[in-house]
Formats: sequence, C-alpha cells, structure tokens
Amino acid sequence: MLDVFKATGALLDGHFKLTSGRHSNAYFQCAKVLQHPEHLTTVCKKIAGHFAGSGVETVISPAIGGIVVGTEVGRQLGVKTIFAERKDGVMTIRRGFSLEPGERVLVIEDVITTGGSVAEVIALINAAGASLVGVGSVVDRSNGVVKLADDHFSVLSMEVISYTPEECPLCKENVPIDAPGSRANKQK
Ligand code: ZN
Repeated sequence: MLDVFKATGALLDGHFKLTSGRHSNAYFQCAKVLQHPEHLTTVCKKIAGHFAGSGVETVISPAIGGIVVGTEVGRQLGVKTIFAERKDGVMTIRRGFSLEPGERVLVIEDVITTGGSVAEVIALINAAGASLVGVGSVVDRSNGVVKLADDHFSVLSMEVISYTPEECPLCKENVPIDAPGSRANKQK
C-alpha cells in the first residue's frame, strides 16, 4: 500500500514547508492516490472489508476530503451515503440528509491529523440519537494517537514528524525546501 502511495506521488519524501509553517521530511496528498479509480477501489475495499460485519446502515463523511472515500466505501457496503459540511464554520447536515435515532452510522475520512472534523461529525451523530459504528480513514497521520471511536480503522498509519524552522534538521543540513505541490508537479 505504501508503494502505491509513493508511486502516485501521494506520499513524498524530502523537505517541505507545511501549511502550518512547520517543516517536515514527508508530505502527504491523499487525492493523488484516490484520483485513480483502481486505487480508490483497492483502498476502500480495505475499509469496507473491516466494517463489513458491523451492521452499518449509513456512511457519513465530512466534506470535502472525506466525500470521495465515503461514497466509495458506502457503494461497496451497499448502504446509504451522506456527508456533513461546514456552514458559517459549523459542521452541519444539509441537503435533505438526515440521521434517525438508532441508525448505525460509520464515519469515513480521507486523512486524520487531529481528528477535528470527524469529532464534529460524531457530535452530529450523537445529537441525532444515532449509533456510531466506528471511524474509517485512509491515513492516520497521528500514528494511532488520535482515537475517535472504539473501532477506528486506518489503511495506513504513519507519524508525520514536523519541526519549527529554527529546529529543523533538514534546514541545518541546507537541504532545499519545497512548498507542497511544487515537487509533485515536477514529478509529472
Ligand atoms: Zn526545514
């Protein structure tokens, strides 16, 4: 699986400035692997397979990142698939989607870093009186530190180490730094 992520340019090794301003030796762009239907199918098969016997009735994802994965996992499980989105900064269920009391719901996300969006979706599930089956993600960047549900499954678990520019060992070695995306474009 790691090879697929590297071959598609989803996982890059180097010296990167993250959006947080911190520096890292790894950069991850999930969409780079999910844009290929065969990889999307394979990745989601692992998630759907994990939850196949869990009685999932509905898949829900936080927009935008989780929608593609959520839709494919829901399709493979053969269940209703919806998404939540931010309106005025608040995670909400719109578009006529709804959750019913007791409904068995699986939350799907592409990349979990701090789990903030997923936690907000779980709050919506609880508010509706629905039942959380588990959380599935393509990548857990917290390497298992962030635990959002009793059944939390990630296809890939990895620790992304980052540094302040001042303490960055790559800067100290004068390794040229890339802004995310630029290196990916060069790889095409
Ligand atoms: Zn650096």
